[in-house]
This record gives sequence, structure tokens and C-alpha cells, in this order.
Amino acid sequence: MHPSDISILPQAPSPSDQRAGRRTFLKYAGGIAAGMAPLMAAQAQQAGASAKVDFPPDHADSEAPEKMPDPGLPPAERIGYAVVGLGRLTVGRLLPALAKSRYSRLSALVSGDPAKARKLAQQYGLAEQSIYNYDDFDRIAANPDVQVVYIVLPNSMHAEFTIRAARAGKHVLCEKPMANSVAECQQMIDACRQAQRKLMIAYRSQYEPLTRSLLKMARENRLGELKEFISANSQNMGDPAQWRLKKALAGGGPLPDVGIYCINAARFLSGEEPTEVLGSMRNNPADPRFREVEESVQFTLRFPSGFSATCSSGYNSHKSQFLRLQGTLGWGELDPAYAYEGNRLRYGLLQNGREVIHEPSIAASDQFMLEIDHMSQCVRQDRQPHTPGEEGLQDQRIIEAIYASAQGGRVIRLAPPGNTRGPEPRQEG
Ligand code: NDP
Repeated sequence: MHPSDISILPQAPSPSDQRAGRRTFLKYAGGIAAGMAPLMAAQAQQAGASAKVDFPPDHADSEAPEKMPDPGLPPAERIGYAVVGLGRLTVGRLLPALAKSRYSRLSALVSGDPAKARKLAQQYGLAEQSIYNYDDFDRIAANPDVQVVYIVLPNSMHAEFTIRAARAGKHVLCEKPMANSVAECQQMIDACRQAQRKLMIAYRSQYEPLTRSLLKMARENRLGELKEFISANSQNMGDPAQWRLKKALAGGGPLPDVGIYCINAARFLSGEEPTEVLGSMRNNPADPRFREVEESVQFTLRFPSGFSATCSSGYNSHKSQFLRLQGTLGWGELDPAYAYEGNRLRYGLLQNGREVIHEPSIAASDQFMLEIDHMSQCVRQDRQPHTPGEEGLQDQRIIEAIYASAQGGRVIRLAPPGNTRGPEPRQEG
């Protein structure tokens, strides 16, 4: 106990009081208990251990210890989220992640499809009055149960709903790509700044444990001086009518949708910002899927230290997601990388004169849950998110430079931005 805490305890009885017997003792003991209760609760909460159920180890030291789950906050104290747009990502990943998160809870749904919203509200135990639509969304200002609005709409709608959420006094977590233009990204940052609300872009890879292991290796110089990053993120698209293939809604084709993962990983793994961008793309309007957006794109980013990233992204080949980081002393790769689950890390180093390839296994944890809980902890502790609006804005600048380079057939130079990232995520996981 800290000495300054002692002042809140009732005074100890004198020896003569002690002779007064058991009643005095009980009064004293009860007073201590009552006086200490808030202190103990605060200490327990600070330690984050109040509700955790733990067991002594029952295996030898040679075995990995079995960890019991950290329960986080009691449900009523968790940060409340309104999720806007009930599509595949929301239904398949985000609502389940919110349900198992430790600092966050679902508190409202926003949808253009009332029947689907009612179905999901029922599944997740929400009352009907917690359902909003795109027209009455601004009523959310009056709902104290919602602290964060999570925007999971087609890309062209991110800016409008971020600005409306900030004006409604809510913090914003917005899916990638942040928006369809640099100008929109800046408007989103300005709106959140003006409303003094936090803005985080949902770059889940930056919260994913295996990707963070590779980042740690790079930062600890275990791969030596970083020289090259090689990465692809592609998938084969179907229905030509879907919004991802409509330029006005998607902003572009594979580049802002999946190529953005390669851009972002090259930047955060190297800790540098590109100063030169060279792009080329394949347009194929004969295929009904690619009348409005590119079929595939290839690009090189050059960084001030001499590090470079060579990447490719397409909507025309079977799902392929990998990255490889090469340094003077070793290499590290994720294959798959950027996957929702099942990412695999391998790295190769020279050890005792032999090339040794390692494949560490790390207990799986849901990267969507880690990312959402990071936002919640930032709100609770008034911290800047690790991936704020500035991080999304910088990727959008690079996307626009790649398109300009591909169209003009020339290298585009980029001025370095200021710092685009907030403090490192703590142990949200
Ligand atoms: P879906 O097409 O599956 O869902 C989008 C939802 O947006 C729809 O279900 C609909 O919800 C709503 N919507 C509102 N207006 C429109 C419109 N004009 N056309 C289509 N849908 C509309 O998309 P995803 O869930 O795959 O993607 C949503 C966002 O999440 C995108 O920005 C995408 O880039 C991002 N994303 C991020 C991923 C990640 O790993 N971080 C992975 C996948 C997507 P309702 O019916 O409720 O109105």
C-alpha cells in the first residue's frame, strides 16, 4: 500500500479502547474494511486482475504455461460501438470479435436493411431501439451507450459517415481504405479534430501478433539492414455488379482494396516513408468485371535509406497473400500474410555457419478483437490510436501516386509526411 493511502483508514483504537472489548474491535475492523474497499477495488482494477480466474501450474517448467483468459472490463463498463453497414466483414468478423472482446461491446447497428438488422440485433441481444438507418443515423448523438462508431461501408461512404459521427460527438473507427481521395481523408481528420474525437483506421495487420513478431525482429536488427520488401495481395473476383468493381463506390480496383495491405506493411515494417513511386497497371474493359477499375497493378516504392518495396495486386488470380522482408543478415516472410487467420511466419538466418530456417508458432488471437480493443483502450485512457487518420491519409497519397505513375508512365516523387502513427499498441491482447 502506498503511504498516502493510509490517511483514508479509520484511526486505530488506543489500548484503553481495546479493553472496551469486541464491539470496538469489530467497529474498527469494519471501518478498515469499508475504508479499504474502494482502495482495494482501485488496486485490483489497476492490476487488471480483479476478475481473472487463475490456477497454479500443473506441468513441468519445460512445458508452455497454460494461460487463462483475461476477462477485461465488466460488460457494463466496456466501450459501446455502433457498427455502420452490416455486410460480410461486419457479420463474418466484426460482430463475433466484439462479442469476445474485453474492453468493447456492441451497442447499436446502422443499416439500410431493417430485416437483417433486426435479425442481428436478436442474435447479439440488442434492443430494437438500438437500430438506426442511414437517414436517421444522426440521432445517435443522443445515445450515451455509443461512444465509437465503426464504419464498415463501401469506401465512398467512409468520409460522409466519419464526418457525421464526429459531429454527433462520437469517436470513429473506420475501415480501410480510409476514403477515395486525399481530400476526403483530410476532411475526415479535420472533422474529428474539430469535434475533439479520436479517429482510427482499421489496419488490422498492425495489431496481428505474427506480423508484430516480424516487426519486432526488424526493429531489433535481427535481419540486419533492411533492403527489400516483396509482396502480393490478389484475389479472383466474381459478380461484375458488386460495388468493389464500381469506381464511384470503390475508388479503384485491387489497389485500394487489397494492394493497400502491401503499401501499409512496407511502411510500418521498414519504419520509413517512400519518396519515389513507380506503378503500372492492366486495364481490361473487355472483361465485364474491369470496365471501371483496373484488373491488376504492380508498383515499386523507393525509400530514403535505399530500401525498396516491389508489390503486385490483382482481382484476376486465385487468392495469394504473402510478404517477404529481406535484410543484410536474414529474411522473414509471412505466407499467408494479411489473412483473417492462419498467417504463417518463417525466417532464415545464418547460425554457426549454417542457414537455419525458423517457424515460430504463436497462440492464435483474433486480430479484429485486438484492433477494436486497442481503440477502446485509447478512448478510455485518452491515448492517440496507433493507426490514426494520418496513417490512412499517407496510404491514400501513395495510392494516388501509383495511379498517376501508371497513367503517365513516370516516377512520381513524394514529400515525406510527418509522423503518421500514434504510440505502439500496448498489451490489448
Ligand atoms: P459488403 O459489400 O459485404 O458490405 C457492405 C455493406 O455496406 C452492405 O452490406 C450494406 O449494409 C452497406 N451499404 C450501404 N450502401 C451500400 C451500397 N450502395 N452498396 C453496397 N453496400 C452498401 O462489403 P464488406 O463488408 O466486404 O466491406 C465493407 C468495408 O470494409 C469496405 O470499406 C472494405 O474495404 C472493408 N473491408 C475490410 C476488411 C479488413 O480485413 N479490414 C475486409 C473486408 C472489407 P446494409 O445492408 O446493412 O445497409
